[in-house]
Amino acid sequence: MPYAHVVLDIPTRALERAFDYEIPAELADEVQVGCTVLVNFSRRPSVGYVVAVTERPVAGLSPDRIHPVLQVLAPSAFDIGAARVASWLAREYACPPCEAIRPFLAPGQQVKMRRDGESSPWELVCDRSGRVDVRWVRLAETGDPYEPHKNAGRQRAVLQALTAGPMSVAELAATIPGAAQAVASLERRGAVVVESRRHVRGSGETTLSSASAPRPERLTQGQREALAAIDEACQAGRGDVVLVDGVTGSGKTEVYLDAIERVRARGRGALVLVPEISLTAQTVGRFRSRFGDDVAVLHSRLSAGERFDQWDLVRQGAAHVVVGARSALFAPLGDVGLIIIDEEHEGSYKQGSAPRYHARELGARLARERGCALVLGSATPSVESLARCKDGTWAGVRWTRVSMPERPGRALLPTIQVVDMTQQPSGSRWPVFSDVLRQGLEEVLERREKAVLLLNRRGFATFLMCQECGCVPECPHCSTALTYHERTHQLACHTCGRTWPALAGSGPSASCPNCGSRYMGAYGVGTQRVEDELSMLVGDRAEVIRMDADTTAGKGDHQRLLERFDAASCAVLVGTQMIAKGLDFPEVTLVGVINADTTLKLPDFRAGERTYDLLEQVAGRAGRGERPGRVIVQTYWAGHPAIQAVACHDRALFLGPELDDRREAEYPPYRRLANVVASGRDPRAVNLALDDLAHSLHLRLDGRAEWEVLGPADCLKAKAKDRVRRHIMVKAPTDANMGELLGEEVRKLGRRNGVSIAIDVDCHDLM
Ligand code: ADP
Ligand code: ZN
Ligand code: ZN
Repeated sequence: MPYAHVVLDIPTRALERAFDYEIPAELADEVQVGCTVLVNFSRRPSVGYVVAVTERPVAGLSPDRIHPVLQVLAPSAFDIGAARVASWLAREYACPPCEAIRPFLAPGQQVKMRRDGESSPWELVCDRSGRVDVRWVRLAETGDPYEPHKNAGRQRAVLQALTAGPMSVAELAATIPGAAQAVASLERRGAVVVESRRHVRGSGETTLSSASAPRPERLTQGQREALAAIDEACQAGRGDVVLVDGVTGSGKTEVYLDAIERVRARGRGALVLVPEISLTAQTVGRFRSRFGDDVAVLHSRLSAGERFDQWDLVRQGAAHVVVGARSALFAPLGDVGLIIIDEEHEGSYKQGSAPRYHARELGARLARERGCALVLGSATPSVESLARCKDGTWAGVRWTRVSMPERPGRALLPTIQVVDMTQQPSGSRWPVFSDVLRQGLEEVLERREKAVLLLNRRGFATFLMCQECGCVPECPHCSTALTYHERTHQLACHTCGRTWPALAGSGPSASCPNCGSRYMGAYGVGTQRVEDELSMLVGDRAEVIRMDADTTAGKGDHQRLLERFDAASCAVLVGTQMIAKGLDFPEVTLVGVINADTTLKLPDFRAGERTYDLLEQVAGRAGRGERPGRVIVQTYWAGHPAIQAVACHDRALFLGPELDDRREAEYPPYRRLANVVASGRDPRAVNLALDDLAHSLHLRLDGRAEWEVLGPADCLKAKAKDRVRRHIMVKAPTDANMGELLGEEVRKLGRRNGVSIAIDVDCHDLM
């Protein structure tokens, strides 16, 4: 009689293991690893996931005390390898086992159950139709190309995306809002052909005409070296890592495409991760132009049904190249031959809720499990990855760095000029534009080209400040300084989203919370003021497009603004961090950074690294075409190593002092760092829980080399949504099983009413 090892879907750290259930003969064929099943647990029906099937009960219980599996609720969603990775995930990031398994399930599968009437069986509630037909769109092959009406921006966007090859409606809809309607109109006009069919991959032939990939005539030296290193890592078959350290525009994507081609030729598949914000129709198109309908796309902007369709194509073996955000690592790809993580330094690869994994670490673990290679790509690799490459091996596998220092062809790296704003002869106290930047913009306008201006958003909002004592009002529910929005005359909290009319008779802005003064004034240079000054400078000579959290709140706003910028003949794009990523507009010849240093002052040991990454990435937006690019960086901190390094195209200028600081302060990459945050409405309960935790951690760790317990202390964001927040930071040696130890200690604390404890191993968010 076989047994199923089942992880119960009960999200508590107290249930850290799987339980054994007997598989009745009538379910023997159905119960497999990866199935969702119904079992009894503590006399209650409970949903669980099968992580192993064995001949003997694993837990060693006597067989007569083991309950049977009652029912199979959903077919297998993952294999034994994925089950092992999930188990690692739960240990490594100290989360309940079921939370580590959920991301592997079919998209839309809800874990809640409903019972229809008394006698009918339990069933899973699934938010999906189970469709496997995919609607494909391709350009019609008839005569003249269709020219949409000039207001039909969506149709234009759809046609543009299709020039790279056929796409599914779901994919189009994910990157172009309203694509479904646009496709319908285009179909009526005969501009596109829509075919609804089961997505099947034939023997090399696709029934759809796929546009040929713009394959470069010859690879650069760097690209060839990168491919050779990836080949070697694939051959080794044990999870070796290759870091492709290539400057912006050096052709990293071409390396990925070629590497995937080689893996596909051996019949294996590939997972490709791209930061969510860079996952545009443009990016997808590049992969589709090479691999056609062998590509599946997975990310959070798809509806549950669309995500299910894409996921199911992968599970059925109909698509072997999965392109997606962080969560694409969980795709049910049978034979993973290669994992690629583009822009590996990106903070968004760290998940903020359980399981709090980092895609780089999960990717490395998965590569080891699947016996394949992991490729990391970036123009600004994380210090963690650089450190491992320097050591050469980490956790038993090889880490190799390949550098691609040049752009192919004639494209040159832009020239960079740092403007020290403390030296500006200025009338106004905080000038928005230096003379150099003003002049640079003038020249762009004269030459009818395009410019991008970066506002380093953090610390760059406008606040209301007491004119008497300098106090800035905070949200009464969260410890977050309220930002002032000129257009709506509102104060807003960016933590809980509450707003108040500014300077009204009541609310947090009526008088100073500190001294009671009624003289409150706006301070800081907001995006609005930059836009106003820019409009004055530009007049009607060019279009000014603003891109920040306010102008991109709606679905698809982002894409629409970029299209406007693309379509304009001469334009200036002003925006926050979000403009630094992945934009590839050859006509951009000037990049201006208005305030390079605001992020340097954040209380976070990664502040320097983030600033360096941001400046280097945004500088990479200039001069991607034939014309040379120019970058002007305005700063009040011209001597900072991060700024110097960008100015000189010399990363070592930043890394040298940065690594010295980190070694001295015992931060990553020299230690692991975890943040344990307790939150709740009752401050005393929160304090008590954390004091107890700190006490037991000290008992266990004092005297152990390289371990350190800091705190408890209030979090920087000491209150959020009316819950107080306190934390403990723990440092550990780089090879420590930190999650396991912290999980144990928090489990020992037991349940504390009204207090929730979040363990964030290898934390990125320290607030
Ligand atoms: P990255 O991802 O490193 O920023 P991309 O892959 O976007 O760079 O490449 C930048 C540009 O260079 C693209 O337009 C790409 O088509 C082109 N390119 C890539 N490799 C080559 C090559 N070997 N020869 C010529 N052009 C290339
Ligand atoms: Zn005051
Ligand atoms: Zn708030």
